Formats: sequence, C-alpha cells, structure tokens
Amino acid sequence: MICVSLGRTRHKMMLAEHEALAERGAELVELRLDWLSHSPDLGRLLKDRPTPVVVTCRRPRDKGLWKQSEDQRQTLLRAAMVSGAEYVDLEEDVAASISRYGATKRIVSYHNFDKTPPNLEEIHARLAKHDPDIVKIVTMANSPLDNVRMLRLVQQAQVPTVGFCMGEFGIPSRILAGRYGAPFTYATFHKERTMAPGQLAFEEMRDLFRYDSIDANTEIYGVVADPVAHSLSPLLHNAAFAHEGLNKVYLPLRVPKGQFAEAIRAYESLGLRGCSVTLPHKEAVLEFTDQHDGQVEAIGAANTLYRDGAGQWRAANTDYDAALESLCESLPERTGEEIASDPSHPLAGRKVLMLGAGGVARAIGMGIIKNGGALMISNRTKARAEVLARHLGCLVIQWENRGAAFADVLINCTSVGMHPKVDESPFMENWLREGMVVFDTIYNPERTLLIKQARERECRTVTGVEMFVRQAARQFELFTGRPAPLEVMRKTLRQAISAARIS
Ligand code: NAP
Repeated sequence: MICVSLGRTRHKMMLAEHEALAERGAELVELRLDWLSHSPDLGRLLKDRPTPVVVTCRRPRDKGLWKQSEDQRQTLLRAAMVSGAEYVDLEEDVAASISRYGATKRIVSYHNFDKTPPNLEEIHARLAKHDPDIVKIVTMANSPLDNVRMLRLVQQAQVPTVGFCMGEFGIPSRILAGRYGAPFTYATFHKERTMAPGQLAFEEMRDLFRYDSIDANTEIYGVVADPVAHSLSPLLHNAAFAHEGLNKVYLPLRVPKGQFAEAIRAYESLGLRGCSVTLPHKEAVLEFTDQHDGQVEAIGAANTLYRDGAGQWRAANTDYDAALESLCESLPERTGEEIASDPSHPLAGRKVLMLGAGGVARAIGMGIIKNGGALMISNRTKARAEVLARHLGCLVIQWENRGAAFADVLINCTSVGMHPKVDESPFMENWLREGMVVFDTIYNPERTLLIKQARERECRTVTGVEMFVRQAARQFELFTGRPAPLEVMRKTLRQAISAARIS
C-alpha cells in the first residue's frame, strides 16, 4: 500500500486535496498537520474523511513546520487518537508520553536527515520498546549500500516496519519497501510538493513503478548513473514491462563514480538481474565482467549489463546496434556499383561526416568503420578528434571546415541543439544538401534545429528518439529474452519528452 503525504496551508485545500486523492485511488493519506497555517481543526479534517489517515505533526527539528508549543502538539496528537484517526505518528522521544488510546495504531518513528547510521538494528530495538503497531525508520542514504542495509532491516524486523532511505540514493528503498515486508511506503500528493528528499509522487509510485504489484518474485533492473534523476530509461523500461505483463521493475540507481562494482554486488544481493549503464560508468562495466558482447572491446565502453543463460554477467553496447539500425533504415537505395564494391552493408562506400568525439561518437564511429563507411570526424576540440580518429583509423576535418566536407551522411554526436539551447545547431543550414542523410543523436527535443532545417532542405532524417528507443529495446531483449514492444516504448518516450518541455 502507498501512504500519500498531504501538506497544505489551508484547511479548505487540505480537505479538497484529500477528496481528490481518494478519487485518484489513494488508500491511505498522511495528514501533515504542521503544514497548516492556522491551528488544526481535527473535527473538520477527520469528519467524513474519504480514506483512512495517518496523523503527523512534525517539529522544525524534524524538518517539520509546526510553529506552536510542544505541549500543544502533543495535545493535538492525543486528540487525533480520541477522534479515531487510524494511525498517529509519534517520534521516538514522545512515544512514551503519549499512551495508546482506542483503535488508533501507533507509528513510532525515527528520522535522520544526515545519514543512515551504522546501528540501524539498535535504533529499531529502541523504537520497538515504545508499544508500536508499526516502527518507522527513515534515514538519508549517502550511498547505494544504505538501501540494502535498510531493506534487510525491514525484512528481518519482528514488528511491522516501514523503513526506507531519503535522497536520490534512497529511491530504490522507497520503491522496494513492500517487497521486504513494509506495510506501506510513502509518496507525495504532488510531484512539485515533496515533503522529504527523494520522495516520489503518488502516481509515479503506483503507475510507473507499480508499487502494489511488486512482490518477493519481482525481478529488479535499473539504470546505473550519476546523476540519474533526469534519466528517461525507467519510463521506457517500466512501460515495456507493464505492457508485456512481466513481474519486473526498473529503478533509477544512483551510483557515484568509482563505486560501480561495489554497488552492483550490493544490488545483486537484492536480486538485480540487469541494468542500463551510463555516465560515468560506461568503462567501469568492462572491468566488472570479462564477458563482452560484439563490439564492446573495440568501442571500449558498454551501456548494458545482463545475465546470460548460465547466470553470468555480460556487458553489451546497445547504442552501437541502435545507431546503425536507425541510420541504415534511412539510407537511400544503393547503386549497383556501390553494392558491387561491398555487398554486405548499406553503409559501405558512403562518405560520413561525424560531428563530436565523445562517448556516442566513439560507438557510432566504430560502427561506420566496421561496415565500410568512409568516415571523417570533426570536433570543436581538435586534439580529441585526433585521438578518436587514430583509434578508428579515419580522417579529421577541422571544425571550421566541416561545411566543406561534402558528405553523404551527417551525424551529430555533439550536444549542440539539446534542450534548453534548442535554437542552436552544429551545422549551418546552407551546408545541408538535398538527399543528404542527417542523423541527430539528440533526442530532447526530437525535432532539433538541425533536423528541422534538414527536413526543409529535403534531406533524409534520423532522430535521436529512434536511436534511444532502439538501444532501450535491445536492452529489453537482453533482459527478457523476448522482442521489445517498440511502439509502446517510442510513444512513451515522445510523451515524456513533450511533457518535460511543457512542465
Ligand atoms: P560527451 O562524451 O560529453 O561528448 C560531447 C561532445 O559534444 C564532444 O564532442 C564535445 O566537444 C561536443 N560539444 C559540446 N558542446 C559543444 C559546443 N558548444 N560546440 C561544439 N561541440 C560541442 O557526450 P556523449 O555521451 O558522446 O553524448 C553526445 C550527445 O549524444 C548527447 O548530447 C546526447 O544528446 C546524445 N545521446 C543520444 C543517445 C541516444 O540514444 N539517442 C544516447 C546518448 C547520448 P568537445 O570535445 O570540444 O568538448
């Protein structure tokens, strides 16, 4: 079950939001009385309440907004029990002075906004002495391992325990709490009104992560990155899992640079079955396992870690296949002469100008060379272009001369044109020629200035959305062994990109 935290400054709004939450399907709502700007009117808030409630009133020292005296606060919590609230939240230090009353259940809570202390079991044992129906332990996660310690605590507790970690590192523990026996987790009523760091919105928890259907058999996947909050991968993969009816969940896993192996081992102990890997870990994956697919070795980076049939970890680079597939679908029919020069691949013999020399350029450049394309690299920082060109065995074009390269295919692997700088392009409009293939790897926005101008000039275009969806689809196939619902993933990504721009 998800307990939705609700905090508003006016009674009228609190009541209206509570009603709206019930209509949206909330089953339990935490009324944060400390958020009200006037003295809480319990009669008004609890009469005809549309769902069971947890009554909570936090002091400033617990990061709450309560402005009146401590005596008044404790009187209010007692009154909530007398009024028959389903649960009251009592901090450890006040739990002994507020006795059990009626049918109201006692949540005895501990919060630590700085860290997840090493003595979690000891803290839990202390809380358990205060006659709790539920023990609640919420701590700040400063590393991926904190999630694992917290979930183990929840799993082993003798008293029903709501335990999770705050902050971006702690998101997995919020989503997986129920899998380890927590009676509920917390989410906020509105994504822009979080009441604790890292709190997810109710609909996100319910519909994206499908909290209520996560059970002991749910397989865990995720994206390992730092930062991870902006990642669209959880949207795509969870939409695909839900569409296929798979008992799998895909989480944002924030892992700092240098902690990749340690974090994977920790999440492995929770049953991690596979993950997407992005900055800054694309090279660290290669050290984690020596089982590498296809071109991983040559590219020197991987974006996927999955288990093969024998349960061994393998690293793959799905960007490579995704970029090539997306590009090849848009190439014009080849002439007989071109096919004769290399019958094996539609890229053979094409002049390709690639802008950029970062991680994506490296993977795509390798694909062009391996398939017989005549590659030229141009990058703002020439030295970086030269290093990549030496690695791939291709030409460097000075950044200033990129317009004169006369390529059949132009690929943008720079970040120029990416949201929010959407009115920039790495290539001038009058350098584009009719019939040229223009591939922009940027996916936010999908219609970059480069893509718009290329369409106006009657070029063939390939967008970063196509590449992004295909790399995720390929990962889905490696994770599940079945074909990906490509159209569902495409639609989900497009919706997410346009929603991000509206909000
Ligand atoms: P990266 O390693 O950081 O490389 C960034 C590249 O952009 C470098 O070549 C850099 O040139 C160039 N650049 C940045 N600002 C520039 C400017 N103002 N003018 C000219 N060049 C500039 O990044 P990456 O991982 O390769 O990603 C590159 C792009 O690929 C991203 O922007 C992203 O949108 C896209 N991408 C797409 C997908 C997909 O699936 N569609 C997946 C991943 C990434 P310098 O060397 O001079 O700094």
